[in-house]
Amino acid sequence: MTKFSVQGVPTLKDNYVWLIRAGNSPHVIVIDPGDEKPVIAAIQHQQLIPVAIIITHHHYDHVDGVEPFLKHFQVPVYGPSNELIPAVTHPLEPSDNLSIHKDFPSCQVIAVPGHTNGHLAYLFNDSLFCGDTLFSAGCGRLLGGTYSQLLTSLKYICSLPLKTKIYCAHEYTANNLKFSCIIEPDSIEIQQRSEYIDKLRAENKITLPSTLEIELATNPFLRCREPSVIRAAEQYTSQDLVNELAVFTVLRQWKDNF
Ligand SMILES: [Zn+2]
Repeated sequence: MTKFSVQGVPTLKDNYVWLIRAGNSPHVIVIDPGDEKPVIAAIQHQQLIPVAIIITHHHYDHVDGVEPFLKHFQVPVYGPSNELIPAVTHPLEPSDNLSIHKDFPSCQVIAVPGHTNGHLAYLFNDSLFCGDTLFSAGCGRLLGGTYSQLLTSLKYICSLPLKTKIYCAHEYTANNLKFSCIIEPDSIEIQQRSEYIDKLRAENKITLPSTLEIELATNPFLRCREPSVIRAAEQYTSQDLVNELAVFTVLRQWKDNF
């Protein structure tokens, strides 16, 4: 298994641009550079050599740094084929086996529509770069896709191994866990995680990556079949909710106004 390490570069208000570094080589893949300046600074400071940019979806906080970045480093740009991202040189469809560079493991390109219609996620070994689809203790808003699409995408992610590392694109964990606490106030796992995350944030530390195992225990959007979550959603909406999609839809709408 080709070894790599991952570094999060904070950008904009609360985004992370992920740098995947191959072993001890200086080569890095850059994911979702919404702002090029801190990324270029991190690359130059560590004398790294970018070999590619990967984009998960078309929103400005994931793509606006791409073209200015390319003025400094001419690299190929991989991104979803069905979203309008002019800088993309290698439009992607979902596939099992994308080889970007010889120093890196090949990755699985996964269609995860919902937040946007063409959103992609990238799985390198056990590390999932999922943009704004799954957040730690939350999920993306609907900005182009449907509730059904987003739930299906999240359920696919839930089928990956429990140890899968979740590299999402925003530092939302602490705020998301406040919502988790309201949905499942009796959950010890959520309370303990919330305290731990608040401590990390008080020290200005990153809360990512999460793991799928942690998310399955603390993320209400992955727990729509749990009786406690169903009950909370039904109380909120004062209706019987007949299936998982109905529960998910109520949770997502509730969180939109939270
Ligand atoms: Zn987005």
